[in-house]
Amino acid sequence: MYRASPETTPADPPVAIAAREDFASWVSEAAEGREFAEALVRRLPEGGYELRHREDAGKEDLEPHEDPRAAREIAKLTEGGEYRPLKSSPNLRRGWLLRVADEKALAAAMNYLYPVALVHWHLRRCGELPLTSYRENAARQSGIYKRVQKLSEKGVQDAAKACCGDAVCLKRTLWDVDEETPLEMERGGGEIPCPEPCSVFVSFARRVRLFEREERRDLDAIGLSPTEKDDLAALVEAAATGEVGFAREAEFEEPLNERRMRYRELTLVPKLRETRSGETGLS
Ligand code: SF4
Repeated sequence: MYRASPETTPADPPVAIAAREDFASWVSEAAEGREFAEALVRRLPEGGYELRHREDAGKEDLEPHEDPRAAREIAKLTEGGEYRPLKSSPNLRRGWLLRVADEKALAAAMNYLYPVALVHWHLRRCGELPLTSYRENAARQSGIYKRVQKLSEKGVQDAAKACCGDAVCLKRTLWDVDEETPLEMERGGGEIPCPEPCSVFVSFARRVRLFEREERRDLDAIGLSPTEKDDLAALVEAAATGEVGFAREAEFEEPLNERRMRYRELTLVPKLRETRSGETGLS
């Protein structure tokens, strides 16, 4: 028999209980199951619930688990064995099957796969999810993150496009720059709402703010800033080997970080193309 939910000593708050009941009924309404980010969740005819990677739908030879706590290990590392700092990144590993006894165990497993997602999903369905803008979040930052308060509006917009798109995060980005300034991006089509910039985004915003300061200091004099040169050199070197290996997900100081490259695509490529078309016009 499948394991029930892990022992919990403090009573679950009412919103968590309401969220797990809501989620379990939503799943049970669909015989073929529901996709929730990369998880496929299904109510079993004999009782209990089954979870697997959505790309493993219909597969038989999956590694079986019956303890909801197995989801913690499943969510920890990518297929290639790298730590996953952002659980909503589209890099959940495949090959596992988790069967749990009841809705409480289902919620426990989901909270390991996608922390806090069930409560946010439920509150949004009820129209009660509070949103926190980038500026409100930045005002609370301190220490080395205080500098994110100075990030320009364009910096926030470009950072969000680079860091929060469906290619790198499956949450639906609901927060804005501030009360008057909406984010100008595809906000994503996923089930999990994102009501506030997360710690990975704030760390990325800090890096983008460093880029902004550098651009002001160096761009007029030499055309490209030092880190833009580093990134281009690293990219050419990597491409010359025939394979571009990305840096780890939250290593924004590394030239070949995927989000950093997405930001460069938004900010550096237009500059390079502009320079090139200017040259063409002169010849
Ligand atoms: S802030 Fe962006 S990267 Fe972080 S969880 Fe929200 S949508 Fe994803």
